[in-house]
Amino acid sequence: MSSKSNKTVVQKYGGSSLKNITAIKKIAEKIIKNHSEGFKIIVVVSAMGKTTDQLLHQANKIIKNKSTNKHNRDIDLLLSTGEIVSATLLSMAINSRESGVTSISLTGTQAGIKTNLNHGSARISKVEISRIKKELNSNKIVIVAGFQGISQTEDITTLGRGGSDTTAVALAAALKASSCEIYTDVDGIFTADPNIVKNAKLITHLSFEEMLEMASLGAKMHPRSIELGAIYNIPISVKHSEKLNKGTIIKSGTKKMEIREVVTGIPTERKISKITINDLDDTPGVAANIFMPLANQGINVDVIVQSAGNKGKTNLSFTLSENHLNQAIELLNTSNQINSKNISSEKGLAKISIVGTGIQNQPGYAAKMFKNLADATVNIEMITTSEIRITCIIKDSDIEKAAQVLHKEFFG
Ligand code: ASP
Ligand code: MG
Repeated sequence: MSSKSNKTVVQKYGGSSLKNITAIKKIAEKIIKNHSEGFKIIVVVSAMGKTTDQLLHQANKIIKNKSTNKHNRDIDLLLSTGEIVSATLLSMAINSRESGVTSISLTGTQAGIKTNLNHGSARISKVEISRIKKELNSNKIVIVAGFQGISQTEDITTLGRGGSDTTAVALAAALKASSCEIYTDVDGIFTADPNIVKNAKLITHLSFEEMLEMASLGAKMHPRSIELGAIYNIPISVKHSEKLNKGTIIKSGTKKMEIREVVTGIPTERKISKITINDLDDTPGVAANIFMPLANQGINVDVIVQSAGNKGKTNLSFTLSENHLNQAIELLNTSNQINSKNISSEKGLAKISIVGTGIQNQPGYAAKMFKNLADATVNIEMITTSEIRITCIIKDSDIEKAAQVLHKEFFG
């Protein structure tokens, strides 16, 4: 028996790697090969191609009132079928190779994934690994339908769009796997969006904190999977499902002491809008009154800037995704704390950041970023920072220019 025989590995394949039967057969072969190298393998699959979108589209043709939540249970059960289809087909593809290796497909429920009852964005509370263990011990490859689980009330739930990544990392944590490999249709995580910056480079190593800030660069991962990876210290590698490259490894402690690359990546996000509310009373509770109703409707607010109070009045601006803008304005208009004529909004914005754990305690990086943007005549509308990130809100029409000059400055 090979020395790797004790190593448990979780592999996750995204919808783009399982888009048709030919692709599924290719993946089956690759998994059989990895198994023959001595690994215990758990495979987590997403739905094939655009299946989840198609299922949602069908549901939306029936559902009249989109704001009701009475269909949430049915929607989750419906969406969970996409992953079950790919899990079963992949298992059949493995078993029909007659390579001597067998596999078994499991739904999220059968795999022991317990969640809360938050339909559409359920969180995993526990993984009962006994079934998976039993199958692994009989030398089977275990194929698990991602993105789903079962609540205490025995209802099927889903984890939110892109949630199979989180299934994979949760299983890796529960099974104490040595690694979690996320296979996708891009090479990994890049120093900038390769669609915007042509010479963006592949990042080989990245910390969990940095990855959380870099969601938009190349492979997109479910942020909760990165949080889980950090908590349980599971190294996550992100790589192309067909190429034999190493991709990007996300893990803790990848930085070399004090000498290190300061900037790791330059993430960008487009289709951002801004709401400004003028003439607000500068009293406690005002910000809560604005943001609570938005939060209750699941509207994510990002960069928030409040001006210093002046004569008992203040102004507040915040950004949000363009597709939430109209709904947010409607909600703010119905608030009796805000005078509608003080609300204004702007579309066509974008966000650009420099990210890197080395930024903290290193003065001058913000100034360097602003100077480069100024030289490129890019106007900065808002600025916000965290320990490992400096972010500017700029016009969307400037995003290419901005990303290119900053990439040149920090990566050459
Ligand atoms: N199939 C689901 C989605 O499209 C989950 C996933 O892909 O991870 O969001
Ligand atoms: Mg995904």
